[in-house]
Amino acid sequence: MWALTWSLLAGGAHASAPRPVPAPHSLAALCEQMARRLPNVSKAQCAAAGLAPGPGASFKGLPLFQRDVVSPNPLLRVLVVGGIHGDEPSSTSLVMHWIEHAVQTPSNIHWRFVPVMNPDGMFKDKPTRTNARGVDLNRNFPTPGWDKEAAHYWAKRTRSDPRRYPGPQPLSEPESRWLHDEMARWKPDLIVAVHAPYGVLDFDGPHVPPQRLGRLYLDQVGIFPGSLGNYGGVHKKMPVVTIELNSALRTPQAAEMRQMWLDLLRWTAERLGAD
Ligand SMILES: [Zn+2]
Repeated sequence: MWALTWSLLAGGAHASAPRPVPAPHSLAALCEQMARRLPNVSKAQCAAAGLAPGPGASFKGLPLFQRDVVSPNPLLRVLVVGGIHGDEPSSTSLVMHWIEHAVQTPSNIHWRFVPVMNPDGMFKDKPTRTNARGVDLNRNFPTPGWDKEAAHYWAKRTRSDPRRYPGPQPLSEPESRWLHDEMARWKPDLIVAVHAPYGVLDFDGPHVPPQRLGRLYLDQVGIFPGSLGNYGGVHKKMPVVTIELNSALRTPQAAEMRQMWLDLLRWTAERLGAD
């Protein structure tokens, strides 16, 4: 039994190599990839999430799938984005679970969920933080002074860490261009960006920040050249809640994900006026 289990876990020492899963151009392939790679997401859950290709695509041409959940009289638009860094699969799982909560919880919000902004990084054999061209998408937004500051910060503060390369120029990547264009086109009242694994909550924008979401507490860690929080919250005055889950590879418990969702709803209603 142990040998059999181990053989299955190891991908089958005696069996043939696991069947390769095609790149997620289609919803069926996406759901297969998600079930195989994400913590705590089944194929059925993915199929029920109602994802469809949106207007954006990755460098390799993979669609950026999205799901809109719309109430009859929406007062606010909220964009929730996961998988900005490809090696943070828990962030995508959280967004998938929140789609279920949004469907089940009435609110005056038009939700737009994009669980994987960086499919090229996430669905590689070895997932990477950066996109297919080696760019950290969360350093690629056009914050003022980017040309000087982003390269300087990268060289001096990260010692040219390849995982944090900001790109040759702002918005050089199709994935960051998609989010930039989405902000201009759809004008969300709030952006929620999900990351891992620092276990904190961050906020940029002209509002009183949420103090906690579930067990994650506010800890404003500062701003980076080219980051979404800096571009959206500081520069464009479009509030950005940044969630840093505790683990990149495991989701919080179901009750904790639900509590985070309820706390986000309450803060949004109180501070942004979704009552
Ligand atoms: Zn991240």
